[in-house]
Amino acid sequence: MAEEDVNQVTPGARVEEKLYNVRFKTDEDRSHLIVLDNQLCNRCVDKPCTVFCPVTVYKWENGEHKISVSYEKCVECGACRIGCPYFNIEWKYPKGGFGVQYKFG
Ligand code: SF4
Ligand code: SF4
Repeated sequence: MAEEDVNQVTPGARVEEKLYNVRFKTDEDRSHLIVLDNQLCNRCVDKPCTVFCPVTVYKWENGEHKISVSYEKCVECGACRIGCPYFNIEWKYPKGGFGVQYKFG
């Protein structure tokens, strides 16, 4: 089977299948996503960032009482720019050449 056929996304495919077409180049020096104030996260009852991110970048760490940020998985959808009720997430695009790369067709 030709490579372009292998990488076709089937309508209705699961997120994991769609992510097959995505490549990442991680900036090891700096996260482009920063949770500004962990005290706010402690008081944030529902912690919606752990739900709205399609690739579960944000995870509540019970023992450490803070949100961990797996920024290397971010697909740059932008949801966390508006989804945090306290605007507690600083969001920038990754430096040039880093971050997610989409392959179409
Ligand atoms: S939604 Fe915002 S304030 Fe709430 S836990 Fe996530 S980053 Fe913290
Ligand atoms: S931009 Fe989208 S994929 Fe990236 S961390 Fe925010 S919600 Fe998750």
